[in-house]
Amino acid sequence: MEKTDLKALVEEIYENLLERIDLEKEATKVQVVNYLRDAIDVVSNINDKDIDSIEHAKAAFNNSYKELINQSLSSYKNTNDKFGKLTKLNEQTLQECDKNQINLETLTAKFNDIQTHMVDEVKKANNVILELSEKVKVLEQTSNLDPLTKVFNRRALISYLKGVCSDKKTPHILHVLMIDIDNFKIINDNYGHIAGDKILIFIANILKKTLREGDKIFRFGGEEFTVTINRNTDEQAESIAHRLLKLINSNNLIYMGEKISVTASIGMTKYLKDDTPDTLISRADKALYISKHSGKNMVSKVCE
Ligand code: GH3
Ligand code: MG
Ligand code: MG
Repeated sequence: MEKTDLKALVEEIYENLLERIDLEKEATKVQVVNYLRDAIDVVSNINDKDIDSIEHAKAAFNNSYKELINQSLSSYKNTNDKFGKLTKLNEQTLQECDKNQINLETLTAKFNDIQTHMVDEVKKANNVILELSEKVKVLEQTSNLDPLTKVFNRRALISYLKGVCSDKKTPHILHVLMIDIDNFKIINDNYGHIAGDKILIFIANILKKTLREGDKIFRFGGEEFTVTINRNTDEQAESIAHRLLKLINSNNLIYMGEKISVTASIGMTKYLKDDTPDTLISRADKALYISKHSGKNMVSKVCE
């Protein structure tokens, strides 16, 4: 998992957590536990076959996050309630001091008791945080989706290509596009990392809107996406690649009142009979390299 992905993941959890605090102050413990069970069931049942169902994977992913958020909320509420009770006890102790004669020994014992309870509560809260962090890690390792852009991740790509390459009975017609944003480092430097993240989401959305059922979108890593196109001729696949570049180039993202224009470069290849995931990806990479070194914002192909 990349550091940037981890940051995005934590930010998403934090934002969702705040949303839930606003929406559902009264979630009961039973509701939270049931939610947790359902979400864990869905996530543990995801397998490679589900890769074809992007909606399924998305729903499972989101539910699992909601479940974790609910769990944090419930624990947050619990700790808060206990602190509330301890504060009341504290007040009572002080009031008793006003009414009666001060008995220093009893008073010290009471305050010691309150302090021990508070330390216990903090320890418990820390343990819950540790447990939740572990769950986030497991969720990330078992998920096929990129948390930032909500397209499939590289693990899903490799698993999908392994399936294609090992199935020698079916005559696959598959084109692979490696799409890399041009000068993305400069965009990050000029507008900031958050604007950069928004551009990644913006491009993923253009890809989602433009591609058809059966085509698949993956975030290969950083600012690179991989798209697989099914059952098209070379000419059709190339024309889709050009259309994607045009859409990326002609749609500006408005960020903090500023228009940010982006271009991308594409390397295209197609599946050949003896391919492995590695040979297929490395041909697409070669083609991308040609686009980058011939002026960017263009499509190049290496098909043999
Ligand atoms: P080129 O046109 O040759 O592709 O240049 P480039 O600047 O796009 O490529 P380079 O590999 O030099 O830099 C890629 C940058 O992408 C550097 C890295 O900080 C940024 N990046 C990678 N992942 C993320 C991310 O998740 N969010 C943001 N905002 N930036 C990212
Ligand atoms: Mg790159
Ligand atoms: Mg780039």
